[in-house]
Amino acid sequence: MPATKKTAKPIPKPKPTPTKKVVVHKIEDAANKLGTISAALKADVLIEALPYIQRFWDKNIVVKYGGNAMTEMSLQEDFAEDITLLKLVGMNPVVVHGGGPQINSLLSKIGKEGQFIQGMRVTDDETLDVVEMVLGGLVNQEIVTLINKAGGKAVGLTGKDGNFIHARKMTIISSEDKRKKIDIGLVGEVVSIDTAIIDLLDSQDFIPVIAPLGVDEHGTAYNINADVVAGKIAIALQAEKLVFLSNIKGVLDKAGNVLTNLTPAKISELVKNGTISGGMIPKIDFALDAVKNGVKTAHIIDGRVPHALLLEVLTSEGVGTLIRGASANRGTGAIGGTGGSRRSGR
Ligand code: ADP
Ligand code: MG
Repeated sequence: MPATKKTAKPIPKPKPTPTKKVVVHKIEDAANKLGTISAALKADVLIEALPYIQRFWDKNIVVKYGGNAMTEMSLQEDFAEDITLLKLVGMNPVVVHGGGPQINSLLSKIGKEGQFIQGMRVTDDETLDVVEMVLGGLVNQEIVTLINKAGGKAVGLTGKDGNFIHARKMTIISSEDKRKKIDIGLVGEVVSIDTAIIDLLDSQDFIPVIAPLGVDEHGTAYNINADVVAGKIAIALQAEKLVFLSNIKGVLDKAGNVLTNLTPAKISELVKNGTISGGMIPKIDFALDAVKNGVKTAHIIDGRVPHALLLEVLTSEGVGTLIRGASANRGTGAIGGTGGSRRSGR
């Protein structure tokens, strides 16, 4: 085959490139501009935190870290940094964690399916073993490790340590028929909290990381909903704040808007008509319980937002639903959205 003669392509004229000097100049310009802006912004952001640091210095901040907010590693690392930072600027964060999805995953590995009634996990003997393994072991130690990596000094414990969460078996009343009691197994309710161990850890700059297990006078262990434990610990410590980090924007109405200006009466109506259901029920119940019993504010915030906790405590950015106690600066136990202007009562 005769070789086809390749026609020589015209060599494209090189595009005039800017001289090195111009490029360098442009980059330097941009860098300077960015550097100046970001330095000013950085200073603003840090200064914005000042009144919050002053107000919450040496105050107890109880944080419920929901199992559903624990899925992404980068968010977990953010959370660990936030907790460490709050501690280092002088607050006393106390972490109570859940672990629902992690428990479900281990249960399914042994061929068991998690069952819930009115937001509470039905707990037989075998389920309790899994709950203890996952909450008291895996999840607890994962959070402890992340906080320690971030530079904090976290200590993991369950309510069985030093018997500090006294519990008894819980029976729940059917929401459909108030005369009907439902047995949900080894699920406990909190009888009392002995805060001595938390105070001891705080006093030595340790950060308590608490798995929600309790124990009765016979030594029987109970699985307790972490929202309940967080609420009761917040009351026992007369905490400044109780923060629930979950996987949702806040308490939502049927259309998905974050609810504002709720009253206890409105809440029970929303539970009755099914707007508030499942895992949100214990959160809202124990947030209300906390603010009625001396906790200044309770917050249900979106743990999927990076550094949600830091934004909530140290800036004017609200990322969820706020529930105010009568003892907080404004309002009387009303619930509001947390977005918008600087909040004087937080
Ligand atoms: P966590 O692990 O944080 O405790 P849960 O799944 O137990 O998470 O509770 C949060 C869930 O509650 C939300 O993801 C949502 O599915 C459910 N929920 C039910 N009613 C509401 C409501 N009105 N507003 C927001 N979330 C609700
Ligand atoms: Mg839950």
